[in-house]
Amino acid sequence: MADKYCSVENIKFLLHEVHDLDSLLDSERFQDFDAESIDFIIDSSKDLGDKEFFPYYQEMDEKPAVFKDGEILVHPQVKNVIQKSGEMGLIGGTFDAEHGGMQLPFMAASATGYILTAANNPLVMYGGLTAGAAHLITSFGTKEQSEMYVPKMLNGEWGGTMCLTEPQAGSSLSDITSAAIPQADGSYKITGQKIFISSGDHQCVDNIIHLFLARIEGAPAGTKGISLFIVPKKRIKADGTLESNDVKAAGDFQKLGQRANATAHLSFGEEDNCYGWLVGTENRGLAHMFQMMNGARIDVGLNAASIASAAYYASLQYAQERPQGRKLSTGGRKDVSQGQTLIINHPDVRRMLLLQKAVSEGALSLCMEASRLVDVQSITEGKEKADANLLLEMLTPIVKTYPSEMGRVSVSTGLQILGGYGFCLDFPLQQYYRDIRIMALYEGTTGIQSLDLLGRKATAQNGKGLMALMTEVQNAIQAANTYDELKPYAKILGGKMKEVQEVMQYLIQYAMKGDYDKFLADASIFMEFASTIVIGWQWLKMATKSKEALVTGNLTQSAEFYESKVHTMKFYFKYEMPKTASAKETILNPEFLTILESEKELIM
Ligand SMILES: Cc1cc2nc3c(=O)[nH]c(=O)nc-3n(C[C@H](O)[C@H](O)[C@H](O)COP(=O)(O)OP(=O)(O)OC[C@H]3O[C@@H](n4cnc5c(N)ncnc54)[C@H](O)[C@@H]3O)c2cc1C
Repeated sequence: MADKYCSVENIKFLLHEVHDLDSLLDSERFQDFDAESIDFIIDSSKDLGDKEFFPYYQEMDEKPAVFKDGEILVHPQVKNVIQKSGEMGLIGGTFDAEHGGMQLPFMAASATGYILTAANNPLVMYGGLTAGAAHLITSFGTKEQSEMYVPKMLNGEWGGTMCLTEPQAGSSLSDITSAAIPQADGSYKITGQKIFISSGDHQCVDNIIHLFLARIEGAPAGTKGISLFIVPKKRIKADGTLESNDVKAAGDFQKLGQRANATAHLSFGEEDNCYGWLVGTENRGLAHMFQMMNGARIDVGLNAASIASAAYYASLQYAQERPQGRKLSTGGRKDVSQGQTLIINHPDVRRMLLLQKAVSEGALSLCMEASRLVDVQSITEGKEKADANLLLEMLTPIVKTYPSEMGRVSVSTGLQILGGYGFCLDFPLQQYYRDIRIMALYEGTTGIQSLDLLGRKATAQNGKGLMALMTEVQNAIQAANTYDELKPYAKILGGKMKEVQEVMQYLIQYAMKGDYDKFLADASIFMEFASTIVIGWQWLKMATKSKEALVTGNLTQSAEFYESKVHTMKFYFKYEMPKTASAKETILNPEFLTILESEKELIM
């Protein structure tokens, strides 16, 4: 097992220097926090990660969740961690004080999330899903519902889930068929099957509160007829004791990765004795759920960045310890009179390590950018709030997708650094590789995120979101131009802005003609194009802050830390940014080879 899985120095640099959390702490909402208390929370999270998360990562993969005699059994450490997270206030960290939360800035919660996820990603999910479900109740439920469910969810006594997916309704939630029949007492009788439900069933909590999408009898077809319900595993009786609510675990999906997390097939109302309670407005369930999706999608991007980070430190340690071959400068492979060198000294291995660093730290910085926008939204009103929302909406599909897709590439590259050992179960890279693979699938696949980016976000309000993003990039270019060393990179990014306009002008002609097949056929290529540029923006921001620290001598980290940031930015601009040219060429090529009249091209 590697010794290091995350960088506390890097997360503090991102919080305080690049994304300026401190400027938000004067607000009334965050008045209990200052830079020192935030750092204390981060250091405590690292301590918790070191003791309760990281040591169990491999063991929990080897002893995964299993379905036995109608129950899903999970590793005992799940219970321990849920209890500790509840006691420390970590499950409801960002919640309002009135709901028992700490009103922690979302950026700080993302920072602790990064640390714990890098330490043991499937274990973090139990608390994460509970927080997501509780947040839906506090946002859209009644006061009574919040009082009945949320305190016990946040203190770790009860768990929570998000029950959307059904066998016939995955990406297309408009096809949900789970049913809710109104009862005289205001409750609803529930029936249906939900699959792939993360943390969906286990014995580590006394009750599980499912946030459940279903159609009320007679509701319109499609997305406008879906409502949101609280469906507890156990109903709460008038005297506060619990009774079965006819929610059964029908199985646990055995998976490629994240094997420690229960992924349940749940059956509701098999014995006609399952009840749920409406949350929010009838037929607005999907809209309520989607209002929460920004947070959930940032979380998935963050999880991917965290796994990519842990994989980077594991590969780096291996490269620093593994002797193999000779340095090119001392005769290369043939000169056996020279002792072997460590593989970190081979340029190709360094290239792979720098790719891992560039992707994982670039992705993490983007997640912090988005987390800051969530915080700005929570402490502002009017235009400022609307502006933050516009930019967040624009960035969210990229925040979800870049870390998931390029994080997977970077972990695979890390596995390559271990040679044959990378493929073996004794080393952690294969586990990171398996775990990160899900990120591009759940919470909206890459295909769905790409359609969202091009088909909705980039064109909404006549491209206002895209313009807002481009203004931010221009601000970063201007700041970088203060330093001669950074000017060439600022110029490259400026050139990419022009390419974005060129690509959009080309694509928009199809949208204006109503030819959506052609407009959106290469949405995933557009995602690659746009997200590569967006991460370039993040790297220029990080390099500018690093340069500023080095020039002013106002260093909170070592000089090497800042120098490595500038170096990695240069690496990103040399090795990754040119990839936009190939994506652009594909997008601008007017041959449409994927829009098929029939399937004959694929059946040969
Ligand atoms: C480990 C795990 C945990 C999960 N946790 C949860 C959970 O807690 N709660 C929950 O509700 N769900 C959960 N899911 C479900 C997950 O969100 C779905 O698997 C996902 O939404 C995709 O749905 P699907 O599997 O039915 O794939 P499909 O929707 O069938 O998609 C298959 C392929 O077709 C593509 N595709 C589909 N529609 C389109 C389209 N219109 N245009 C272009 N391409 C398209 C997709 O991009 C994908 O590549 C989980 C899944 C897994 C594997």
